[in-house]
Amino acid sequence: MKRTHLILVLVLVLVAVVVFFAVRPRPEERFLSIATGGVAGVYYPLGGALAEIINEKVSGVTATAETTGASVANVRMLAEGSVELALVQNDIAFYALNGREMFTEPVTALRGVATLYPEVIQLVTLEGSGINTLGDLRGKRVAVGAPGSGTEANARQILATQGITYADLTVDYLSFAEAAGSLKDGHIDAAFLTAGIPTAAVMDIAATHPVKLVPLGSDVYNLLVTDYPFYARVTIPAGTYRGQDAQLESVAVMAMLVVSAELPENLVYNVTKAMFENLDRLGAAHARGKDIKLEKATEGLPIPLHPGTERYFREKGVGF
Ligand code: GLU
Repeated sequence: MKRTHLILVLVLVLVAVVVFFAVRPRPEERFLSIATGGVAGVYYPLGGALAEIINEKVSGVTATAETTGASVANVRMLAEGSVELALVQNDIAFYALNGREMFTEPVTALRGVATLYPEVIQLVTLEGSGINTLGDLRGKRVAVGAPGSGTEANARQILATQGITYADLTVDYLSFAEAAGSLKDGHIDAAFLTAGIPTAAVMDIAATHPVKLVPLGSDVYNLLVTDYPFYARVTIPAGTYRGQDAQLESVAVMAMLVVSAELPENLVYNVTKAMFENLDRLGAAHARGKDIKLEKATEGLPIPLHPGTERYFREKGVGF
């Protein structure tokens, strides 16, 4: 072969190799959106950490955490297919599955991965507001959570134990960050928050203002639990927030991770495995991430597990 022929052949081979790599079918890249909550809550940092775990450990998948109005909005987004994963309260997941409360139709697209950590209903005000009990909220301006939040449902149910409706208050639908700002500026008298403790929004208020948490004691719990069995009694430890010297009682629900029933078994298996094998990263994102345990993942789970999660739990000997 002449030298020029050899060069031509080499060039052609090179072109063929380049074309092959440029057009070869690649395994499809899958995008997963994780619906969280507002930036001053706990869902957002934990959802962000989960997205990072998925991006690093599950090949062919790109995950992102989205800010949202939280639980109720998240269920609706998952049902309409605009997100694939979501953090939600277990009471809201139950209402969704059964078409109760704010859901007029059962949401059948919802599948469970795990219950995660307690979310405490925190009734927050400032020292000197004169608000010492739930009943003192009558006539006041109160933030009841973002539109579409689980917080808002909890606020409504808890107020009802005292015969209080929104007609007895001036109600503002605010995110945690907006509520913190409004409380500091004196635009509202109190705010409800349902979130893992410590919650960034409350820490933010406490950093500059004398924050006060109003107890929700056994009287409130006893009235609530007959109609709404997902509430549990909890204690907010002293020192959870700056200037909070005494422990106090409240009620809590559980945070959960849910996924769309439409997701393939293998994908959810890989996501579940990646999450449980990297729990230290969730613990680093927020203190409540340390509560997440494989052995407790199915406790208080009000909806069926996704088959991919079931396979992982079966392998690990977790009962469900
Ligand atoms: N549980 C809250 C809700 O659904 C959100 C909590 C959070 O953002 O950490 O309203």
